[in-house]
Amino acid sequence: MTEQTQQNLFGDESPWEVDDAELRTVAVVVFASGPQEEYDYLVPDTLLDVVQAGCRVKVPLGRGNRPMTGYCVRLETKPLGARRLKEIEDCLDDVPLVRPPLLRLTQWMSGYYLCEWGQVLESVVPAGVRMAAGTKLTTLLSLADEYRGKLAELPLPKKQKRVLEILQAALHAMTPQQLAAAAQCTLAPITTLRRKGMIRSQAVRLQTTEIEHPVHAREENHALNADQQQALDAVLDPLRGKRHETILLHGITGSGKTEVYIRAIQEVVSYGRQAIVLVPEISLTPQVRERFRARFGRVAVLHSHLTDAERHAYWQQISRGEVPVVVGARSAVFAPTPHLGLIVLDEEHESTFKQETAPRYHARDVALFRAKSENVPLVLGSATPSLESFARAKRGEFKLIEMPRRVYDRPLPDVLTIDLRHESRERGFRGAISRPLRTAMEKALADDGQVILLLNRRGYSTHIQCPACGESLKCPNCDISLTHHRHLAQALCHYCDYEIPAPRECPSCRSPEIRFGGYGTEKLEYEVNTRFPGYRCLRMDTDSMQKPGSHERALAQFREGEAQILVGTQMIAKGLDFPNVTLVGVVNADTALHLPDFRAAERTFHLLVQVAGRTGRGDREGRVLVQTLSPDHPAVQAAARHDYRMFADEELRNRAEWGYPPYSSMVRLVIRGPREPVTKEFAQYVGKLLTDATAAAGVPTKLLGPAPAPIARLRGLHRFHLQLQSTDAAGLHAAVHTTTAELKPPEDVQWIVDVDPLDML
Ligand code: ADP
Ligand code: ZN
Ligand code: ZN
Repeated sequence: MTEQTQQNLFGDESPWEVDDAELRTVAVVVFASGPQEEYDYLVPDTLLDVVQAGCRVKVPLGRGNRPMTGYCVRLETKPLGARRLKEIEDCLDDVPLVRPPLLRLTQWMSGYYLCEWGQVLESVVPAGVRMAAGTKLTTLLSLADEYRGKLAELPLPKKQKRVLEILQAALHAMTPQQLAAAAQCTLAPITTLRRKGMIRSQAVRLQTTEIEHPVHAREENHALNADQQQALDAVLDPLRGKRHETILLHGITGSGKTEVYIRAIQEVVSYGRQAIVLVPEISLTPQVRERFRARFGRVAVLHSHLTDAERHAYWQQISRGEVPVVVGARSAVFAPTPHLGLIVLDEEHESTFKQETAPRYHARDVALFRAKSENVPLVLGSATPSLESFARAKRGEFKLIEMPRRVYDRPLPDVLTIDLRHESRERGFRGAISRPLRTAMEKALADDGQVILLLNRRGYSTHIQCPACGESLKCPNCDISLTHHRHLAQALCHYCDYEIPAPRECPSCRSPEIRFGGYGTEKLEYEVNTRFPGYRCLRMDTDSMQKPGSHERALAQFREGEAQILVGTQMIAKGLDFPNVTLVGVVNADTALHLPDFRAAERTFHLLVQVAGRTGRGDREGRVLVQTLSPDHPAVQAAARHDYRMFADEELRNRAEWGYPPYSSMVRLVIRGPREPVTKEFAQYVGKLLTDATAAAGVPTKLLGPAPAPIARLRGLHRFHLQLQSTDAAGLHAAVHTTTAELKPPEDVQWIVDVDPLDML
């Protein structure tokens, strides 16, 4: 009988026929890197009380018994029969690092996003937690029990006796140093006593970093208006009924959505439960932090600038249930709250909720799974819901609640489009700011208002071209034009680290006529400073905001009125609440409109509506001027009318016609390698496998490609992509999974799978 058949026999045997003595505890272990399967290990008797699902374990792996750390995902009690299992060597966690709800969540992610369970676990548990940052291993000493009360009888030298007396009297265990100091002796007598077994020692990990929760000001609740009350009731209903429901809160900018979240969270907290609030990283401003702290006191704010030690300390506080509210970016969806009561995801349309490295998850979908599995409500809020969420609300999967009015019935700003084709033809205007925009700025500034100018391109000139030979300067590693950054006097690639001194002549024909064209925020700032010399202008983009805290400082300066004009990229379009802004200018609405991405119109619409929402938030009315070459584009038109329905209906029709999400599920594969022919050939091979696999499984699938990706070269690698669409999401995922599980790419060629991709470039 082979080992295999023997195993099967035992597997099939009914449990009551098995001798109890043969039942052993087996830990199923997965690894963050290396082997992809689940491995069984025997739990030795000494670790039976220690190893639990969700703990990390040290195990030997492979023929060489390489020591590895893995995650125990499950314990099973079963007969081993003739199977010889290796034993777990050690357990690294006293309490499970990942509790059952998060284990389920990560298992689902692994299946849905087609990545390894171990890899998901590794990314869910912050590095600072895994390495126990901000803690130190300390030895604590106490008197061995059998000597308690018997010290007088012991024939010991005076010093040693003194040490034991102190330990007996002490309320807590002591470190060797503390003990030596108290007994006024060296460490020597202590060491002797430990060796004799009269002193017990114990290694304990102590937290050295703690987190304070300063509250600068307490804030009272606003009396809710009717729209807010109706929205709150919609959240409280499932909350009180202890059931899951997803509420899509479509509330225009400034309608008071945050106030609704806060009220719902207050109720959750009153039950002794915890709430997770997810916001885009860029919205984690001190203003937002203070707003939650002012209401709840203890709030864990998880932003990207935390040190490992701070992150670990927060993790501990959260998992002990000590902080009622967790506010954070994408990854806060994994906060280890033991008593979850509610998840809120604000600005749910934001693409930053999608992680662009493996595991390529979307926090909205992860939050939905988690809320369902922990039976709590999920609130998705946005002024411009993603079409994915809106379609689900239309199908009745989500409950749609609308807040169509601003607080105090403040009017939405008038939005006017400026046709740039007309401006440049008729008026010969040069520069980035057209005459109507300039006039509006002068007026707003003269009335002591503030102005926000949005331009979603950084740098000074966005392309460098030679009119003599037509050559335009590209990155040698990427299929991307170089951007001129004037303050650095450099030409940079925005995708890799390539940079060269800004050229004075054409690199190919040596013509000195080389031209710097196109507008970035740096050039816009220059133009503003030239045209409005009496005013102070601030620029916010990733170049000017590199130092930690610079973002907050700039916002504070603008709030205080130290600057009157704020120029920036999409960074300034979101969430900012400055009552004195009376004019928003969109310098070029078309930057994203013509990208080869089926969401280009949606992105443009979101950006325009969001930036328009930055004005008219105080007592003064606001205006928005949008410069565009496509004033008739439906996305621009709908944004100008603040008409979400108009946009969504039209765009959903387009998506349905092309079978794009939300009317299908999409999976994108990107295959990249240094040698173009080899990479292309492998992409074609993968395409063939996928065609066969989906056909064999009977999954109706539309396959586009393989084709060169829109960015055909990146960081020296050629890129090909394949795009699969199907109405049968599970079938599609399964077919991709079986195809890629066995994939052996040629040397140097890599592939990635992106489920529900947002990045199409
Ligand atoms: P949103 O999140 O929908 O953009 P916010 O919740 O930030 O809107 O509310 C906009 C402003 O209105 C905030 O300054 C907030 O303090 C204020 N606000 C919200 N609700 C009320 C209310 N019921 N009464 C008075 N002011 C309110
Ligand atoms: Zn040239
Ligand atoms: Zn590059």
